[in-house]
Amino acid sequence: MSIYERYGVKPVINAAGTKTRLGGGSMAPEVLQAMIEASQRSVDMAALQAAASRVIARLTGAEAGYVTSGAAAALTLGAAACITGSDPVKIDRLPHTDGMPNEIVLFRLHRNSYDHAWRAAGARLVEVGVDDRVARSGVRSIEPWEIEAAIGERTIAVAYVAGAAASPPLEDFVRVAHAHNLPVLVDAAGELPPEENLRRFIAAGADLVAFSGGKAIGGPQATGVLCGRRDLIQAVLLNHLDMDMDLAVWDPPEDLLPRNLLAALPRHGIGRGFKVGKEEIIGLLVALERFAGGAWQDTLDARRELANDIVQELDGVEGVDASLIETAWYPRVSIRFTAAEAAERAYRSLLDGDPGIALDPSDVHTGSLMVNTGTIALADGSEVTSTVGAVCRRTAAAPLVDGES
Ligand SMILES: *Cc1c(COP(=O)(O)O)cnc(C)c1O
Repeated sequence: MSIYERYGVKPVINAAGTKTRLGGGSMAPEVLQAMIEASQRSVDMAALQAAASRVIARLTGAEAGYVTSGAAAALTLGAAACITGSDPVKIDRLPHTDGMPNEIVLFRLHRNSYDHAWRAAGARLVEVGVDDRVARSGVRSIEPWEIEAAIGERTIAVAYVAGAAASPPLEDFVRVAHAHNLPVLVDAAGELPPEENLRRFIAAGADLVAFSGGKAIGGPQATGVLCGRRDLIQAVLLNHLDMDMDLAVWDPPEDLLPRNLLAALPRHGIGRGFKVGKEEIIGLLVALERFAGGAWQDTLDARRELANDIVQELDGVEGVDASLIETAWYPRVSIRFTAAEAAERAYRSLLDGDPGIALDPSDVHTGSLMVNTGTIALADGSEVTSTVGAVCRRTAAAPLVDGES
């Protein structure tokens, strides 16, 4: 019996990718072992974050770094840092920003469900730009003067979502923001691999970059990485760390938190609710070093073979068209049903099976399901192949019965 069944919950085989709603993927034994070891001893969390900062700086080329409880938390903390700096009065006031500069300028097409994380710090999003290419109404996208025109006395940062459809160049945003002495915040949560992207946005001039620790990095599901300018990372720390400390008996790590920054110690800040455990910081660091060293590629061939097996299994099945899709991470299999409604039935049938198999239903509205091989335990590979084959064959063939949905 699995630990989940002990508590009355049915686990699923994750063939959907590192989805947060499924609890993400699994961690390498080396990462888990490090977390077990970390849990056996306590440690000064500021010193641990300072050590994390050195590792993250080395791997990203940034001045400093910080481990957060996810990329979304990194966005909130980054926005908070831009609003408050190291001012304990402002840190104390968040998320209320009345009378304080609090505007983040961003491209209208970069708006997405995660930008709530920036707003959660008390920031107000100012949308700019028009995209005729996406609207298919013309040939122009956002232009630098449009970003410039939105910048005013209340602006604290310019934001950029990496990898968004039709992304205009980050460099345009950096040039305009830096001309106004404003930082550029980049949401690059899902932009790994390639490993080079750890450095790419910092190299392009970004001031804070957020990555998810629970996606391809393979760290604990509730971790993220924030890297960038030292003064901003210091402000992140002041908004985040537990502040129940008498300064008379605490020596903060000099390289991350010089004592002169601490004329007054802030109260617990807005980030106190996003705390990160020592085990998670260590797990993230071990996973990040493994990822940067290319360890994820060790199973690339096996996962491509699995994807090919699934395509093969579905070859010739009436009403189903399967194809392998290469991505920057592991290969996926797209399963398109001729009768679009069959995709929904196949999805439910697989999930309800024993064991349940969760496919990625992102394109179910177009009659497609996706198998993401990246989160399937390789030992489950042949079971996934045969079950997906059987269910697709049955679902694609069965006409919809009255009353069934
Ligand atoms: C996944 C994702 C996030 C959130 O990352 P977490 O680590 O789950 O908090 C934020 N932004 C984008 C664009 C993402 O894809």
